[in-house]
Amino acid sequence: MSYFDHMQHLADADKQYIWHPFTQMQDWIKKDPIVITEGLDCFLKASDGRWYLDGVSSLWVNIHGHRRKEVDDAVKAQLDKIAHTTLLGLGNQPSIELAEKLIQLTDERFAGLSPRLSKVFYSDNGSTAVEVALKMAFQYWIHKGLPGKQHFIGIRNGYHGDTVGAMSVGSVDRFHATFGPLFFPSFKAPSPYCYRCELTREPSECGMACLSALEGLLKEHSGDIAAIILEPLVQAAGGMIVWPEGYLNGVRELCRIYNVLLIADEVATGFGRTGKMFACEHEQIVPDIICLSKGITNGYMPLAVTLATDEVYNAFLGEFRELKTFFHGHSYTGNPLACAAAIASLDIFFSDKTLETMHGKIAVVQDALQDIASLEHVGDVRNKGLMIGIELVRDKTTKEPYPWDEMIGWQVAYEARTESVIIRPLGNVIVVMPPLAIDMDNLRHLMYVIKKSIIAVTIKEKEGV
Ligand SMILES: *Cc1c(COP(=O)(O)O)cnc(C)c1O
Repeated sequence: MSYFDHMQHLADADKQYIWHPFTQMQDWIKKDPIVITEGLDCFLKASDGRWYLDGVSSLWVNIHGHRRKEVDDAVKAQLDKIAHTTLLGLGNQPSIELAEKLIQLTDERFAGLSPRLSKVFYSDNGSTAVEVALKMAFQYWIHKGLPGKQHFIGIRNGYHGDTVGAMSVGSVDRFHATFGPLFFPSFKAPSPYCYRCELTREPSECGMACLSALEGLLKEHSGDIAAIILEPLVQAAGGMIVWPEGYLNGVRELCRIYNVLLIADEVATGFGRTGKMFACEHEQIVPDIICLSKGITNGYMPLAVTLATDEVYNAFLGEFRELKTFFHGHSYTGNPLACAAAIASLDIFFSDKTLETMHGKIAVVQDALQDIASLEHVGDVRNKGLMIGIELVRDKTTKEPYPWDEMIGWQVAYEARTESVIIRPLGNVIVVMPPLAIDMDNLRHLMYVIKKSIIAVTIKEKEGV
């Protein structure tokens, strides 16, 4: 079979055998998919022979680029020892070394602040990291003698994963509406989404009314609340919604006052995405429980951690017969290959000076966004670090959105593909989230292609009206 026949076979077999996530397969099978065969640095090679710029870090997971020698070597070296062994009843070397590194890292990044994160619980992905956090918080209050604290508060537009517990505390209606009857009940506080304030206030005069609304919930229900769960600073899947300064700090304070735990879901924001190692650092707060996943292995392998304080951990200590054990675990918990990749990836932050070199890149992005903001159908541009959202609107004055079924975000993404750039939108929000290791020239090019694609699509759209 020739190379191209082989690639055509792959495309056909994809359509025949694979059910893709978040994908209307009836549309999918009408076109040949882009099949990725290789990667290098910030680029992906496809079966058509072209190299594409990876504008969304292979769905927000890649940090230092594809095929990083240090990570490749770490995984290969671990393969020569053992690929997998369990943490249920045994320890393993890479999981111990990674846990030690992670706690050293949080100690360093949150120095002088309290509480202190001190324990690492492993799982496989962002959703499981969240499930672990929810179950931990729930059981914690039972051990503390306050079993009435069984419920959670989520923030509207929050996304915490696709498992049933994570969906129950999330609220991106587009994704979640179908499964509503399955969810356990949880409270939802208003989203600090200033461009479309659900309390219809103006940021200049509101005095953070959304925070007051959250306090109202706590005043009435804190006896029933185990924890507040939130995505610190950027609600990512909800549309790259960047929070106003002070909101996160305000929530931390309310948690203290009303005696509820704070769970920070940093699955998307963690590992440098916002310009600091953890988003919570921006407001100098530490949660009681933190969930990390996506960037942890440089996008090499599925791995997640839920970090907790001694206060939480100690509540689970007791005699065997007391059944205070945390009854949770997964087959691949603490997988050695994934932990080895994670250790290597953490080291690169220092050898590459990843966070230090981001300042210049963030400035480039902000310049480009300012320019893009002036386009006729761009309603809002927002970023925190290299998490970037561009919200397209039909009418800039009224903020009228494009209708959902017009797929305006996808039109822009497909346009960008003709320029060899891969992006994936969230509804009408164009998402740009390159690997942090992207160089200045490629970053400028990426932002240029985004702008050009928005113009091409929104002008064409206009002529059709
Ligand atoms: C992606 C994401 C998750 C879910 O992670 P998966 O690995 O896809 O299960 C949870 N929380 C946040 C904030 C995320 O962005």
